[in-house]
Amino acid sequence: LHLTGKPMHSAAENLPENAILFARSMGPAELLDYDRRKLQGVVLEEGSSASHVAIVARALSIPVLGGVAGVIAKVEPGDTVVVDGEHAQVFVRPVSDVITAFHQSLGLRRARLAKYAAQRDDPPVTRDGTRILLLVNAGLLIDLSHLDETRADGIGLYRTELQFMVRPTMPKAEAQTAIYRRVIEQAGDRPVVFRTLDIGGDKVLPYLVKYPEENPAMGWRAIRLALDRPALLKVQLRALLTAAEGRKLHVMFPMIAEVDEFRRARKLLDREVQRLVNLRKPVPESIAVGTMLEVPALAWQLSSLLPLVDFVSIGSNDLMQFLFATDRGSPKMADRYDPLSPSMLGFLHWVVQQCRAANKPITLCGEMGSRPKEAMALVGLGVGLHMDELQQDLAAAAECHATGRRHHREGGVFQGAVGALAAGRGAEPTPSGAGERLAARGAGLGGYRHAIVT
Ligand code: PEP
Ligand code: MG
Repeated sequence: LHLTGKPMHSAAENLPENAILFARSMGPAELLDYDRRKLQGVVLEEGSSASHVAIVARALSIPVLGGVAGVIAKVEPGDTVVVDGEHAQVFVRPVSDVITAFHQSLGLRRARLAKYAAQRDDPPVTRDGTRILLLVNAGLLIDLSHLDETRADGIGLYRTELQFMVRPTMPKAEAQTAIYRRVIEQAGDRPVVFRTLDIGGDKVLPYLVKYPEENPAMGWRAIRLALDRPALLKVQLRALLTAAEGRKLHVMFPMIAEVDEFRRARKLLDREVQRLVNLRKPVPESIAVGTMLEVPALAWQLSSLLPLVDFVSIGSNDLMQFLFATDRGSPKMADRYDPLSPSMLGFLHWVVQQCRAANKPITLCGEMGSRPKEAMALVGLGVGLHMDELQQDLAAAAECHATGRRHHREGGVFQGAVGALAAGRGAEPTPSGAGERLAARGAGLGGYRHAIVT
């Protein structure tokens, strides 16, 4: 257990081996400061599963619990701690029986993973013959290995801002190009949908002055910031175009709320293409440009938006937050509204109908798609591509994000359902034997939360 009360950066530098970190709250950039080889788990008094710290933790396979009220007062540095990511429980100073039970549970989990691994090569086809594309979410270089591990069809959401968040200074155009090139090369023939910078909200860049706002999730973020500071977006677009030379490029803009925002963003892209052409520099073989649908208002502009876009991807994390007026980072709100409620399903149905009528691929890239039941509902709604559509336009395949099994990389496509770790004074039982169990009335946010439906 690591509990210093010191500022994050010094704590990050002095992280002991095999550490579990307790904090009141944490942003994704702060988590990335820690050495993930040493960090075995994170327990937060605040935080919810749709928060970006949870998303990044899942990418790193670090179990994270959120919403564990008052936990910091109950732990001491050096305590032995077990974090159960599946059942959202933290055990502080557990008795030896608890530790033994968790070791057994980890053994079972390994066996379950082996079983899922054996199914990895089964084609993801529904019983009525619909081929579902399985795409992963990515953003860190570590994510790239999941492409092969999971046999995914491609990367449906590449969160470009994560690479900006792990650096102490803004990456220059060449550095960005190198990152994107590496991603594209590693993906090979598999499509990668690059989402342009989605900074703001809880995604803070250490080197950009934060604009103080009362509701940053609804504030100056993502495409709003990008259109007001176009130099940032231009450099990024240039880097993407250069990295994708001679290949297919998929670009997607985040937080579009009005058609005109998409138009303006696309214009910037077109200008960058033209610039490269004028300079006789190489350009991609083809470019597909899409929008995220996270702001409900956009759904009522689809008739004018769809002719302009090549694909639509629903960001259910933000969409839920705005549809239900519920803070995605608030543990108290975490399970309050159901993504399978009539309002959400009705909304999605409407959007899918519009996209299908316009013959535009529609996908979903938020956490909703990583839950088995929700994923099946999405397949039922038609979020995703059918085989015949796929054959019509293979490039558009990048935009499908749904599965009858499960598809997101969070938790690993074929990972099972328990994250349990012992840390602190090794995995040995504490001599006192007086174990204390802290029930985490929060969510298991990271690691191995999701089961698989076959
Ligand atoms: C979303 O909002 O659903 C999404 C995929 O984007 P992010 O989680 O990065 O906001
Ligand atoms: Mg979003």
